[in-house]
Amino acid sequence: MARAEDPDREGKQQSLLRAQLARREALLGPTYRLFYEEPLHVVRGDGVFLYDPEGRPYLDAYNNVPCVGHSNPRVAAAVSEQMATLNTHTRYLEDGILDYAEALLESLGSGLRHAVFTCTGSEANDLAARIAMHNTGRRGFVVTRWAYHGNSYLTAGLSPALGNGFPDPPSLRRIPAPDTGADEEDDLVEAIADEFEGAIESLERDGHGFAAFIADSLFASDGIYARPQGLLKRLAEIARRRGGLFIADEVQSGFGRSGERFWGFERHHAEPDIVTMGKPMGNGYPIGATAISAEVIAAFGEQSRYFNTFGGSPVGIAAAQTTLDVINDEGLLENAEQVGKLIKSGLNDIAARHAEISEIRGAGLYIGADIQDPVSGNPDPAGAKRIVNRMKAAGTLISTTGERASTLKIRPPLIFNAVHAEQLLETLETALNP
Ligand code: PMP
Repeated sequence: MARAEDPDREGKQQSLLRAQLARREALLGPTYRLFYEEPLHVVRGDGVFLYDPEGRPYLDAYNNVPCVGHSNPRVAAAVSEQMATLNTHTRYLEDGILDYAEALLESLGSGLRHAVFTCTGSEANDLAARIAMHNTGRRGFVVTRWAYHGNSYLTAGLSPALGNGFPDPPSLRRIPAPDTGADEEDDLVEAIADEFEGAIESLERDGHGFAAFIADSLFASDGIYARPQGLLKRLAEIARRRGGLFIADEVQSGFGRSGERFWGFERHHAEPDIVTMGKPMGNGYPIGATAISAEVIAAFGEQSRYFNTFGGSPVGIAAAQTTLDVINDEGLLENAEQVGKLIKSGLNDIAARHAEISEIRGAGLYIGADIQDPVSGNPDPAGAKRIVNRMKAAGTLISTTGERASTLKIRPPLIFNAVHAEQLLETLETALNP
C-alpha cells in the first residue's frame, strides 16, 4: 500500500510529531519559530536535498548557508581533519588564517586591507557598527525600511524587520528599499538619495550625527530587490560626503549568490568602507568576518582590542577556506547566474498562466516572486503562505520574505542545477493548481 494511503502509519507519524513539538516547546521555550504548517523533521542532508526520518527527500530551494551543498564531503573532511589536528584561537601564530585572509581580501578589492573574524553575521555587523561610531564620533545609523542586520543589542537596533518586539532606537533612520514603482531606475535612485539626505539631516538635527549607512545589497528582508544597480554607489558617495561610512552587509549577497559578481556591492559599483559577511562563509560551520580599510580601523585598533574566542579558529578557517575553494573549483558563481536565469525564465512562464504572481525579481540564485490577490491586485501573504506549504507537502522547500511576507523567497544552495530548477518550477505550478 502506498505510504500516503496507510492510515495507521500516518496516525503514528502525527502522534510522534505532536510529541516532538510538545517536547521542543517545553525545552526551548517560546522564542523559536518553526517553518511550515506541518513542521518538517529532518535527519540528514546531502547536496540540495534534506531527508526526513522516513527517507523522503525534500528539494532545498531555501537554504543559502550550505552554499556548496548539505554535508559537502570536502568541507566535512577539512573540518574533521583540522579538528583532529589543532583547534585554538587567534592568539597564536598560525598560517591558515593568513592564507584565508589573503584570498578573502583579494576577492574584495584594494580598499579593504584587514579581516577580523567572528562566528556570526550579527557579530560582524556589531563590530562594524562599533568601529563606525568610534571612527566618526557619532551614533546615528541609516538602514532600509525592513532591514535585518543581526540579533545583538546593537544590531537588533539596526533591524526594523524584528518588528514591534524591538522598536527602532532614537538614533536610527529608515529609508525605502528600491521597491517603489518609479518608471525609470534613475528616478528611483534620485528619490531614495533624497530620502537618504533627509534621514542624515534628521539625525544631525536631533544631535545623534551620522555614523554609517548599512545595507544588504540584495535587500533580502525588504523583499529582494536586485535593481537599480547604481543605487548603492550613489548612496555610498552621499554617506562619505556627509562624513559617515558605508557598510556593505554581504551576509546574504556575498560569496557568489548574485551570480554576476562575487560580492553584491560590486553589482552596484559601490566602494564600501566596511564589508561584513557570515552565513555561507563556512558552509554551515559558524564563521563570519568584518573586512575593513586600514584608515577606518586604525584608531579603533589602537584603543580597543577585539577578541572572539571562536572567531577565526583553525577549524572555522578550514571550513571557510574549503568552501571558498569549492565555490571557485566548481564554477558556482557562473552556475548561480545560469541556473538563476533558468528559474527566472520558468517563473515568468508560470506567471503568464497564473495571475497570482505579479512580479519576479532577483539576481543569481536569490529570486523573489510577489504573490497578489488576482482580483484586487493587493499583496497576498495568505496566498504566499499557502503556496509555500503546498510546495513543502509536495517535497520542495521555499519560504517568504518582505514586510508583508507576500514574496516567495527562492534561495537554494549554489550547486542547484537545471534538473533541480525544473523540479522546483513543476512543484510551484502544481501548488498554484491544487
Ligand atoms: N545580516 C543579514 C543581511 C542577515 O540576513 C543576517 C541573518 N539572517 C544577519 C546579518 C545576521 O547573521 P547571523 O544570524 O549569522 O548572526
